[in-house]
Amino acid sequence: MSRVYNFSAGPAVLPEEVLREAAEEMLDYKGSGMSVMEMSHRSKVYDSIIKAAEADLRELMQIPDHYKVLFLQGGASQQFAMIPMNLMKNKKAAYIVTGQWAKKAYQEAQNYGEAVKVASSEDETFSYIPDCSDLDIPEDADYVYICENNTIYGTKYKTLPNTKGHTLVADVSSCFLSEPVDVSKYGIIYGGVQKNIGPAGVVIVIIREDLITEDTLPGTPTMLKYKTHADADSLYNTPPAYGIYVCGKVFQWLKKMGGLEAMKQHNEEKAKILYDFLDQSKMFQGTVRKEDRSLMNVPFVTGDKDLDAKFVKEAEAAGFVNLKGHRTVGGMRASIYNAMPKEGVEKLVAFMKKFEEEN
Ligand SMILES: *Cc1c(COP(=O)(O)O)cnc(C)c1O
Repeated sequence: MSRVYNFSAGPAVLPEEVLREAAEEMLDYKGSGMSVMEMSHRSKVYDSIIKAAEADLRELMQIPDHYKVLFLQGGASQQFAMIPMNLMKNKKAAYIVTGQWAKKAYQEAQNYGEAVKVASSEDETFSYIPDCSDLDIPEDADYVYICENNTIYGTKYKTLPNTKGHTLVADVSSCFLSEPVDVSKYGIIYGGVQKNIGPAGVVIVIIREDLITEDTLPGTPTMLKYKTHADADSLYNTPPAYGIYVCGKVFQWLKKMGGLEAMKQHNEEKAKILYDFLDQSKMFQGTVRKEDRSLMNVPFVTGDKDLDAKFVKEAEAAGFVNLKGHRTVGGMRASIYNAMPKEGVEKLVAFMKKFEEEN
């Protein structure tokens, strides 16, 4: 068996320890005589799995009691509709457009009410986070929406926008659990888990209880009401049971690693290795404003398409895979999520140095 260094933006690398444990438990989960994949989501044994996952996530993020944790399906993209369907009481919301995912959410919201674009960085290919300290947010906006870490472009909010008292809704798919957060500053924090937490198929929504109401837009399907899932503790229907189990293992791993403060340090160290190299390289350049750099997704280019392609190809042959950048940015992107070991980044940089010398 040989494992590569996987720099995919998602689905992405998971801790090897977690994969091994899941493998060991595959045929017989703790004496149950069956795989977690095969058991009823209403069974006692599964109940302990989902309850422990929620408790560990609450502990890691220090989630206040007046927030619900929901394990849902449909990916992050389903939230683009679910959020306005549940929150747009005044049929108006403010969107800050800092990349493709924020833009998709903004466009989807237009199906349900007036989505107002209050700031954008599209003028410079989303290479920065706009100043959000004094935005013109409509008084009657139901919420302010952000994508906190922009997976494709490699930017991250270092300070949250001044929402002027409005509820903040954040897509944190690609920075989930990468550092501590103050949950109380948000109305909703949500993300697909396939970037930094677990296998595709689970989306986690952390939502303040007062935002969970019967009062959704007319026609909202039962399955798309937060209340449906909140009232049933994420067991209204069959949840993505195996995925939640793996997420639970990752939460345990994170606790063992020292929690989110330790992860932040670890992630800062890893990102610094790569950014420091980019900042002195004559061949490779980062593509975003330094002060807005993401710790998770690091896009870079050589400025020459053929050279980019050659780099990606040779890197792959050397065991550094999924480095090709998103088609809208070109070049390369190294996603260095929680589970990417420091050694993976060090070896990548050594490879880049060598490539630069030889080309
Ligand atoms: C990947 C991603 C999405 C889309 O996730 P799906 O689960 O595929 O719907 C949305 N937002 C962000 C920030 C992402 O990185």
